[in-house]
Amino acid sequence: MTQPVDVLAIAAHRDDVELTCGGTLAKAAKAGQRVGILDLTQGEMGTRGSAELRAAEAERAAKTLGVTLRKNAGLEDAHLANDDASRIAIVRMLRELRPRVVILPFPVGRHPDHRIASELGRDACYLAGLAKYAPTAGEEPHRPFKILYALAYREDPVKPTFVVDISDTFETKMAAIGCYASQFDGARAAGEIFPTGQDLYELIRVQSAHYGSLIRKPYGEPFFTHETVAIDDVLALGVQSL
Ligand SMILES: [Zn+2]
Repeated sequence: MTQPVDVLAIAAHRDDVELTCGGTLAKAAKAGQRVGILDLTQGEMGTRGSAELRAAEAERAAKTLGVTLRKNAGLEDAHLANDDASRIAIVRMLRELRPRVVILPFPVGRHPDHRIASELGRDACYLAGLAKYAPTAGEEPHRPFKILYALAYREDPVKPTFVVDISDTFETKMAAIGCYASQFDGARAAGEIFPTGQDLYELIRVQSAHYGSLIRKPYGEPFFTHETVAIDDVLALGVQSL
């Protein structure tokens, strides 16, 4: 029986979570929280590298981030579908890993797998809490408390609900991204990052610095939630207005 995790990041492809929320995952791990990654596919449709090579790279990246575990759902790359079989596969993982917080891709994306991973992940989070949905002996229902959407690199007119200060783990994020040499060395675009002609690593640095500037910090990662954020003490609010 796998030990539960506090935070689980779910994404379509190996390397997606490093790009969108790697700094946040490294920060949580550094704080002693149990962090898991669930990649939905094995990246077998990727233009560069093979699924085997990406598996080894993903393992190295997970070690670099300091996460507790990394699993793969083995769904079909570039053919991701929000169907019953896929939902049941994710429900199984959620009931095993029992995360309180789940990080999903933003529901709009360049790659159709990113959009579908978002919908599939959200639906599975709900269904995992239904006792009579795909019940299995020895398995308890579990519904994650909180869903966060990783908003990095999106240019939709959506303001982040909050930005996580990743200044202390930004270099760890970059080192984890650097583990995917087969994907990124010499690359000009990846995932949701549109090509500008600049080096990919430079683009990630610039974008992370931009999100950091929104909270007056060197580097940040943006997130969206449908729910409203509650505040106890208005005097404790950070980020100077004027
Ligand atoms: Zn992807």
